[in-house]
Amino acid sequence: MENRYQKVVKEIRDTDAILIGASNGLSISDGYHIFADNEWFRENFGDFRVKYGIRNLLQGMFFAFASPEEQWGFFSRLAYRAHYTQQPSQMMKNLYRLVSDKDYFVVTSNGEDHFTLAGFLPERVFEMEGKLTEYRCSKQCHDMVYNNRTDVMRMAEEEKNGVVPTKLLPRCPKCGSLMEPNLPKDPSFFQTSGWKKKALEYQNFIEKYHGKKLVILEFGIGWRNQMIKAPLMKLAEKEPNFTYITFNKGELFIPEEIKEKSIGIDDDIAFALEQIMKEYNYME
Ligand SMILES: [Zn+2]
Repeated sequence: MENRYQKVVKEIRDTDAILIGASNGLSISDGYHIFADNEWFRENFGDFRVKYGIRNLLQGMFFAFASPEEQWGFFSRLAYRAHYTQQPSQMMKNLYRLVSDKDYFVVTSNGEDHFTLAGFLPERVFEMEGKLTEYRCSKQCHDMVYNNRTDVMRMAEEEKNGVVPTKLLPRCPKCGSLMEPNLPKDPSFFQTSGWKKKALEYQNFIEKYHGKKLVILEFGIGWRNQMIKAPLMKLAEKEPNFTYITFNKGELFIPEEIKEKSIGIDDDIAFALEQIMKEYNYME
C-alpha cells in the first residue's frame, strides 16, 4: 500500500500545475520566526530589545521609531540578515525541485522572500503582505514599489548601534521624500500597482486551470486563516480536478466536503519534504 508521501509524489507527477499557499508555519520551519523572542532574535536584535523593548521581529517592523535612521537601522539589518546574505535552505530547495518543471504559482503571507532564494521566479510569487526586499515612497506620491537591495546593503553595512547614516537614507526617485519599508500598515498597501498586478496574475493562474488538473500544496497555514487557506479550500471544493494537500504539524484541517480529494501531512515540513524528495527521486 502507498504511504502518504508516495501519494503526494504521485499527485505531483500527474499534474501540470501546482499552486502553493504558504504562511508562518513554513517560515518557522525555515528558521524565520516573526513572533518569537527566540535565540535568533536575541542574537541579531538584542540591542533593539534592550533599547526599545522590542520583543520580536513583527514588533520591530511596526515599531514607531523616533527617526528614519533608527527605523532603517532595524529594517536594513533585518532584510540584510534574513534575506540578502542568506543561502536557500535544503527545505526550500526541495520544494523548488518538486515544482520547477511545472507551471506554478505561489501565494504567501511570508515576507522573508526565501522562495526566490531557492530559485522560484519573482513574478510567480505573490507576497500578499509585502516583503523585506521592497520599499516605496513614504509620501505615496506614486504607487510603484521598488527592490531595495542596493540601499539596504549599503545601510546595513554602515549601520552603527542600530542607526544608519542620514546621507544613506533612501529617497523617492520621483519626489525626493524618504522611502519606507513596504508593509501593510494601511489600506494603501493593497493599492500599489505591484500588488494589484500580482493579485490579477493569481486570479489568471486559477482561471487558466479551470476544469483541468492542478495540485494545491499548502504549508503551515493556521486553520482559521481567511486570506489564503479559506480561498484554497473553496477552490478545491469547486474544481473537480484539483487536489488539496495540506502540511501543518499539529494543526491539520481538512473540511468534510473535500476529504476525498485531500491529503494531510501532520509532520514537520522540512522532514516531510525530505521524505517526499526521496520518493520523488526513487520514482524517477
Ligand atoms: Zn515620492
